Amino acid sequence: MNAEIISIGTELLLGDIVNTNSAFLARELAALGINVFHQSVVGDNADRLKGSLELALLRADIVMTTGGLGPTYDDITKQTVASMFGLKLERHADSVKRIETFFAHRGIVMTPNNLLQADVPCGATVFQNGTGSAPGMAICHQGKYIIMLPGPPSEMEPMFISHVSPFLQQKTDSVIRSKTVHIFNMGESLVEDRLRSLMTTSQNPTVAPYAAKGEVKVRVSAKAADADAADALIDPVIADVIKQLGSTVYGVDVGSLQNALVQALKSNNLTAAVAESCTGGKVSAAITDIPGASAVFAGGICAYSDELKQHLLGVRAETLSQYGAVSKETAQEMAERIRAVCGTNIGAGITGIAGPLGGTDEKPVGLVFISVISENYNETKQLFLARGLDDERGTIRHMAMMHALSMMFKAAHKA
Ligand code: ATP
Repeated sequence: MNAEIISIGTELLLGDIVNTNSAFLARELAALGINVFHQSVVGDNADRLKGSLELALLRADIVMTTGGLGPTYDDITKQTVASMFGLKLERHADSVKRIETFFAHRGIVMTPNNLLQADVPCGATVFQNGTGSAPGMAICHQGKYIIMLPGPPSEMEPMFISHVSPFLQQKTDSVIRSKTVHIFNMGESLVEDRLRSLMTTSQNPTVAPYAAKGEVKVRVSAKAADADAADALIDPVIADVIKQLGSTVYGVDVGSLQNALVQALKSNNLTAAVAESCTGGKVSAAITDIPGASAVFAGGICAYSDELKQHLLGVRAETLSQYGAVSKETAQEMAERIRAVCGTNIGAGITGIAGPLGGTDEKPVGLVFISVISENYNETKQLFLARGLDDERGTIRHMAMMHALSMMFKAAHKA
């Protein structure tokens, strides 16, 4: 099966918004084993949309559109599709109820034109919108599917995952399963380089790396008659990916680094605490995002000022005056002290210069020291995290947090 994506919206053509919908759909369709050979963008114009749809239907089994399902005059997607196939629009009762409830729950007055969103071409399969008002829909024409989804990514993405993906899977007599390998501390290009031959030679399963914030994920997807057969195809490839990428892999289907850390602490019966300066509590926040973290995470101190580092945490005044607050020695003492204060197996200390001010030639913006200490693990890293990006401060703090989590994860396996 192959699909084509048409993103509809004049603002996309003008470059006012970035077309994240087509990237999302392309990724999701690839994971379902559906090939995407063409994507296009068309403005809110019925004739040109019709032209794009006709062309797409010549070469694809499934045409996916996003945008133009709203209640205003420039929302023309379903009207154009219905008129192309001589289908009438009919009001979908369940969608009427959902739209009315959507407005009532928000306490917003619903203008009558909003109910136009409940009009769907005769015979369409309707996909509920759990996060907005316009439903999505699919029609089948001469064995081909036209699937229309709303424009806002916050509506389109959950709709695709909850409703469209199962709908597409039903159309095939096979199942598609995927597993994700999580990698930290290796760039996407290096990951691709290591996996190139696997990516090019393996058709089923497919191997696709993609960059997430500060980390890389590799999704391995297989199509087979049933789940067990798909897993049997996936598992040896996952083992191969792990072999190629070594210790940068922190888990398979683990969700996030903080989740992997909490699970590792739990399974090894360990506890941890953190003393943070430049990350301002981000490491604690990330760990406590994970349900059940209280069993393994004692807490943290955000010791931003020197006074707090000294008086609350117990970092020695001489360490601060001799080496400075941003130094290997201070990071180490922060880790030791928080471990002692909280009585945990693992202690982490993070100190650095997030900028944009405060950097010197000797200690530039982006310099971060992270120390993680346990009975059997003692490592202090000096990192240079400035990348010249727009949100430099945010990036430095985020990456410092990720490195701290990663080191704690390693400690959790050795403590
Ligand atoms: P609405 O009910 O909000 O009008 P709609 O289905 O009619 O939804 P559009 O009006 O085409 O969708 O788009 C609504 C918003 O969704 C756009 O202003 C934009 O913010 C976002 N959007 C639309 N298409 C895309 C896209 N391809 N990628 C990213 N965002 C998009």
